[in-house]
Amino acid sequence: MLDFDEGPAAGTAELRERVRALTARWRDTGRYEPRPDNWMRGFDPEFSAALAAAGLIGLTWPVEYGGAALRNVDRLAVTEELLRAGAPVAAHWMADRQIGPAVLRHGSEELRRELLPDMVAGRAVYCLGMSEPEAGSDLASVRTTATERPDGTFVLRGRKVWTTNAHRATHMYVLARTDPGERKHEGLSEFIIDMDTPGITVSPIPDIAGEHHFNEVLIDDAVVPARRIVGERGRGWSQVVEQLSFERGGPERALSSYILLAGILAGPRAADGSLDVQIGQAVARLAMLRRLAYRVARLMDNGAAPVQEAATLKLLGNTFEQDLVDLARQAHDGPLTADSLVGQALMSMPGFTIRGGAADVMLSLIARQESVA
Ligand SMILES: Cc1cc2nc3c(=O)[nH]c(=O)nc-3n(C[C@H](O)[C@H](O)[C@H](O)COP(=O)(O)OP(=O)(O)OC[C@H]3O[C@@H](n4cnc5c(N)ncnc54)[C@H](O)[C@@H]3O)c2cc1C
Repeated sequence: MLDFDEGPAAGTAELRERVRALTARWRDTGRYEPRPDNWMRGFDPEFSAALAAAGLIGLTWPVEYGGAALRNVDRLAVTEELLRAGAPVAAHWMADRQIGPAVLRHGSEELRRELLPDMVAGRAVYCLGMSEPEAGSDLASVRTTATERPDGTFVLRGRKVWTTNAHRATHMYVLARTDPGERKHEGLSEFIIDMDTPGITVSPIPDIAGEHHFNEVLIDDAVVPARRIVGERGRGWSQVVEQLSFERGGPERALSSYILLAGILAGPRAADGSLDVQIGQAVARLAMLRRLAYRVARLMDNGAAPVQEAATLKLLGNTFEQDLVDLARQAHDGPLTADSLVGQALMSMPGFTIRGGAADVMLSLIARQESVA
């Protein structure tokens, strides 16, 4: 049996209890239904606002920006509990996980004061404008341009794809080229733009199940003030690489479908014991992945951006999740409908090893570390 109160999570019991109480209250009063992959698909600003009111967003951020100045391991305990409960956290997830931390690490004081309070309050919804039709794995090839005007503002022009929840977002993080640069990794800059800026058009891209969470975002001469650059102009590449470790190094890479494992552990075992070994392996693998996630969080607590460790967690976590869905399919009793939890997880599964960076790209990041060790 898995015990989330022990092991790498020591010292987080009170926080875990707060999350458990909140999720139980919402679930038991029918305000959400646990679903696999709800950190991306479960969009409920009211739930995010309730978490914010309980002080559970921006947990690691300094108190002066509305945070609680706790450790990344504390935040990890909170996110584990939210994922285990299959809670609808998509509205604040990107801001809390990576854009807030990126603004804190690199943003100007003015930008921090402008953006962080709304994130902590669960009011701001961020989407990630990184991928483009010709720039996914090869992110440094982005073609979106940001041209400075004499008045100091920037005009952004380009096309972003697979932008999760852009149709619900208040803000978008955009990676764009400000300067030509001799190498493609040079001359990139990071911007935060308001989604109601004239020139932004969002169009849906339905997923395999017909659900709408992906979008294409056309940026057609959108004017952005210079204060909305995150960090240094032209240094966007090194900054985004750091940011991706926050994106990849969280427990959602292993716990998106945890409710399936909980269901298997709580349910009756096959009389012939045919799945017992696989179930035992799943529990052991998850324990290993949790240790790795806590290692990543501790590295973040020491001020590092653990690029390779996060890539390792993502690669192993995604493989685990795929095997878990397969195990749940075998354990499933009765006809498998698209509405069942296993059916929903099967629909999400193709995206596991692609979103946040393809598996082959994670392998190459990890291998590169080996070659310099
Ligand atoms: C569910 C989901 C949500 C997403 N949400 C967002 C979002 O909110 N914002 C955003 O910006 N993007 C988002 N994405 C896009 C995602 O980041 C890209 O799909 C991903 O980075 C891969 O890029 P690509 O689709 O262009 O594939 P490509 O780069 O064309 O790669 C295709 C395949 O080629 C192989 N490959 C490519 N390059 C290499 C290499 N160097 N070495 C070895 N193999 C390689 C890999 O096997 C890869 O799977 C999302 C994707 C999914 C599935």
